[in-house]
Amino acid sequence: MKISKIEHLGIAVQSIDEVLPYFENVLGLKCYKTEVVEDQKVKTAFLQVGEVKLELLEPTSPESTVQKYLDNGGRGIHHVAFCIEDGVAEALAECDGKGIRLIDKAPRKGADGLQIAFLHPKSTVGILTELCEDPKK
Ligand code: ZN
Repeated sequence: MKISKIEHLGIAVQSIDEVLPYFENVLGLKCYKTEVVEDQKVKTAFLQVGEVKLELLEPTSPESTVQKYLDNGGRGIHHVAFCIEDGVAEALAECDGKGIRLIDKAPRKGADGLQIAFLHPKSTVGILTELCEDPKK
């Protein structure tokens, strides 16, 4: 697979409203979009930092994996998302062939218009890894 850049860092928060003043008033970043991703049971907020985005993730349900992550003491960086130039489907097949555990067997629609898939942290040195592809590019 060919990774062109880090697409975004996913940051788990209990409340976007509570943490946004830190990012906007202290770091001087601007939230340009919020979006609910129903199938992941999260509300997302995006901030641009140069070429990279921060994706704040707020659980919208107790069943959200982000809520479980927070309940287990997790906070802060939740996942790293890489931009895959030659396609997420191809990258998934490659990872599968190398024995990497896949959370998603096929690309699905993520926030911000991206096609995404997750690799399991048990296979990725503990870092929940998201593969992204912008279908518009
Ligand atoms: Zn993400």
